[in-house]
Amino acid sequence: MSLIPKDIKKHFPIFQSNPDLIFLDNASTTQTPQLVIDKLNDYYTNYNANVHRGIYQIGEKATYEYESVRQKVIKFLNCDDSFTAIFTQGTTESINLLSNSLPQLVLKEGDEILISEMEHHSNIVPWQLACKRFNVKLKYIPITTEGEWDLSNLNQLITKKTKIVSLIHQSNVFGTINPIQKVTNIAKSLGATVIIDAAQSVPHSKIDIKTLNCDFLVFSGHKMLGPTGVGVLIGKTNLLDKMPPYMSGGDMINTVSMEESTWNELPWKFEAGTPNIAQVIGLGSSIDYLLKIGMDNIYRYEKSIFDLAIEKLSKVEGFKIFGNPKVKGSVISFELDGVHPHDLAQILDEKNIAVRAGHHCAQPIMEKLKVSATLRASFYIYNTEKDIDQLVRGIVDAREFFTF
Ligand code: PLP
Repeated sequence: MSLIPKDIKKHFPIFQSNPDLIFLDNASTTQTPQLVIDKLNDYYTNYNANVHRGIYQIGEKATYEYESVRQKVIKFLNCDDSFTAIFTQGTTESINLLSNSLPQLVLKEGDEILISEMEHHSNIVPWQLACKRFNVKLKYIPITTEGEWDLSNLNQLITKKTKIVSLIHQSNVFGTINPIQKVTNIAKSLGATVIIDAAQSVPHSKIDIKTLNCDFLVFSGHKMLGPTGVGVLIGKTNLLDKMPPYMSGGDMINTVSMEESTWNELPWKFEAGTPNIAQVIGLGSSIDYLLKIGMDNIYRYEKSIFDLAIEKLSKVEGFKIFGNPKVKGSVISFELDGVHPHDLAQILDEKNIAVRAGHHCAQPIMEKLKVSATLRASFYIYNTEKDIDQLVRGIVDAREFFTF
C-alpha cells in the first residue's frame, strides 16, 4: 500500500498550471495544496476582519479561526502547558525575536553563545549582532566534511559560561538530522537556554518537543505546504513572561499612558500590530493536510524517494555528493564534475526541473567544503520516481553537452 495518495499532485494546482514542472527545491519553499488556497480564499471572501478587536460577527470568526491554529500548532508538536506558541513571519523573525529579547534576560558581559557551523544564516547573523551588543563570545560546533557535527570537544564548547545554545535540527544543505539531544541535554544541565531551528525538521517528520529538551523551537509555514509570511516560535512561558517585548505597538499592550505602557499577557505580548491573519489560518489547513497523510508516513515516503534518488544518481558519471551523514532527511547537495552548479541548474531549468544552485544561505558550510556553491535537490511528499528519473536524465544530458 502506498504511503502517499497516488494522485497527490492533483491536490496542488501548481502542477496543473505547470504540468511539466519537476519541483525539487522543497528545502527552500514548498507548494501549496488547494485546501490551503481555499482556506485563504474563504477568509478574504467570507470573514475578512482584524483579530482580537471587533466584537462583530466576522471579527469574532476571524479571531476564533486564528486562535484555533495556535491550539493546533501546540498539539502538533505535543507541547504541554509550559509552552506557548507565538506567530511570527517565519523562522528568521522568530530567531530575531529571540536574539533581541532573550539576551536581555540571560546574558552578561563575558558570557558565551553556542551555535554550529551548519547553521542557516538566519541562525548565525542575529547571534553575531547580539554578541556585539552584549559583548559576549560566539562559539561554533565544528562540522566534518561528511556533513555531521564534530562533538568530540563538546565539553570545552559548552561550559557554565554558555548561556544560549541555538542549533539547527535538520540541515538544509546536507539533510543531516542532528543528534540534537546529545547537545541539548548537556546545555540544559549547565543552565543554558536552548533554541532549536526546526525549519527543516518540522515539515518532514513527527516532532515531539518534549523529547528535544529545548526552551524554544522555531519553524516556517511555507516549508510545510503553508502560506509564506507565517512562522512559529514555540517557547517556555516562564522565560517569555520575563523577556522584554521585541516589537511594540498595538495589541501587545495592556495599558498605554503618556508616560509608560504595560504589556499584554502571553502570547500576545510578542504579537505587535495586525498579524498575518490569513496566513496563520492557512497554516492551520496545511497542518490538517500533513496530519491526514501522517508525519510518519511522510518521513518513510521521503526516505524511500531519497534512497531511490541516491541509487540512481550515484550511477551518473562525474556525480559527487557533498556529505554523507548517517541519519538524514531527503536533501542531496551535489556537483557534477567539470560543470559549474549554476550552469547545470540553468540547463535543468530548461527541462522544467527546479533545483537550487548556490550557497543555500550557509556560507560557512561552503567555506568548509571549499566550494562557492553546490546544487541541491530536496524532495517532498509530491515528488515521485518519475521526477527522479527526469533529474537523472537531465544531469546525464548536461554532462554529455559539457563534455562534447
Ligand atoms: N533555518 C533553516 C534550517 C532554513 O532552511 C531556513 C530557510 O531555508 C531558515 C532557517 C529561514 O527560514 P525563513 O526564510 O522561512 O525565515
